[in-house]
Amino acid sequence: MANLDSGDSANYTETKILIVGTGFAGLGMAIRLKEMGINDFTIIERANDVGGTWRDNHYPGAACDVPSHLYSFSFEPNAEWSRVYPSQPELESYLQKVTDKYQLRSHICFDHSLSKATYDEISGQWLVNTSGGNFKARFVISGNGGLAEPKLPDIPGVETFTGHHFHSANWDHDYALPGKRVAVIGTGASAIQFVPEIAGVPKQLSVFQRTPNWIIPRGDRPYSRFEKWIFKHIPFVQKIVRAKIYCQNETRVLGMVLHPALMKLFRRAATNHMQRQVTDPAMWPKLTPNFPVGCKRILISNGWYPALQKPNVDLVTDGIKEIREHSIVTNDNVEREVDCIIFGTGFYATDNPIAGKIYGRDGLQLAEAWKDGEEAYLGASVHGFPNFFFIVGPNVTLGHSSMVYMIETQVNAISRVLQTMEENSSATVEVKLAVQQEYNEGLQKLLGGSIWATGCDSWYKHRTGKITQLWPGFTFTFRRRNQDFKLSDYHFDSLANNS
Ligand code: NAP
Repeated sequence: MANLDSGDSANYTETKILIVGTGFAGLGMAIRLKEMGINDFTIIERANDVGGTWRDNHYPGAACDVPSHLYSFSFEPNAEWSRVYPSQPELESYLQKVTDKYQLRSHICFDHSLSKATYDEISGQWLVNTSGGNFKARFVISGNGGLAEPKLPDIPGVETFTGHHFHSANWDHDYALPGKRVAVIGTGASAIQFVPEIAGVPKQLSVFQRTPNWIIPRGDRPYSRFEKWIFKHIPFVQKIVRAKIYCQNETRVLGMVLHPALMKLFRRAATNHMQRQVTDPAMWPKLTPNFPVGCKRILISNGWYPALQKPNVDLVTDGIKEIREHSIVTNDNVEREVDCIIFGTGFYATDNPIAGKIYGRDGLQLAEAWKDGEEAYLGASVHGFPNFFFIVGPNVTLGHSSMVYMIETQVNAISRVLQTMEENSSATVEVKLAVQQEYNEGLQKLLGGSIWATGCDSWYKHRTGKITQLWPGFTFTFRRRNQDFKLSDYHFDSLANNS
């Protein structure tokens, strides 16, 4: 149980609601609070501007692989999207405009990185320590991002490398690639976007692939001035475009969750795409995955295979044995000297470091509560952590559609809980353990029969093998579950009963 002496207490800024992060989740929550007439909230942001993923991932070619008209707030359509798939700068600018339009900047404390959040059972408040100051808040709503903590590979010797190196999520634009021997480790969604952009630039580019992915064509194109005019002046058309993208994406659930055998249809498309683009059949086996389509995220790219065939590019598939001061050694004992390593090795999706910083009832650390795999109720509430909500918590991520839709769904559900507390003068809310357990048993049952459980390794899975990241179904089902939850799923309490 946390306790403040009067000296400590003076150093805490009081706020009713503390939001963590200024990506789609944090901003969406803040907008909703303002709509509810709640202005007593503070947003902490570890960087010096808004944008979350779309501020951090500024590597060459960074873009979203969900079409722009769906990957945006439903209440803030943008007729000006320049193309079908929005680029990172365009998404970052969209989020900045939204921030300004809803006058959120005055609520944001930039350069405030969360170091610890502790629930104080006596006061029913969260004591939040950050790099920029401390806060005492009745509620914490964390939009910290499911893919926000870059992960370096656990390859022997990685720490001994003395050449230049950076992660795709911290791209070093000042480093000059021309004339250099560059290694890229990782061939996931990020690498297949930046490799085509840089492929011809260095003297030598070695792409280290551990596992090939299924890749389908990217149907991207710019929107014409006429289309943008229509979207602006006949908003209904934009709504239809959004609805069409939404429905098309939802059909993928039929294969991913309900009838995994259907995913074989994508196999033909992906194989044809690879064989059309790769002229040397000797490369085909190296580029063909040995798991069903959809088990790992399906990637979309028109530039990946052409990039791998450039004369200065070398696709290395032998597996990395170790990294030395100036080189990378593969399992066949070939040593390649490199000047720079770019890590496209993904993020801590499971075992997110933020869980090590959150302490709930009885001092329980969230990382400890989640040691066998993350779980929450509706991806938001965890038993033992009263008045704490995640947006994009466990089992909310999608393999098929827009996370913005899921975020709006969760924002609505959290608002309903807050509204109920206001009406009933409740001080604390905590999901019931049995409800959380039953919900997760149901999810795991569905996930067990899904395409994601067909034998591949992916960031969707906790190291125990439990799929802790994905929502196993249609996004409208998630919305219905969030709309229909019973208030009796939670334990509401006044402080007197709580301590
Ligand atoms: P990722 O998909 O997790 O890919 C990481 C890559 O690094 C994989 O190829 C992985 O190989 C490799 N790797 C990891 N550890 C390694 C090791 N020790 N040795 C060798 N290789 C290793 O990460 P990401 O590409 O950054 O993408 C993460 C997620 O971000 C995506 O799945 C997607 O959801 C999101 N994203 C979205 C977009 C978008 O357009 N919306 C764009 C970029 C990223 P294995 O496959 O063998 O593990």
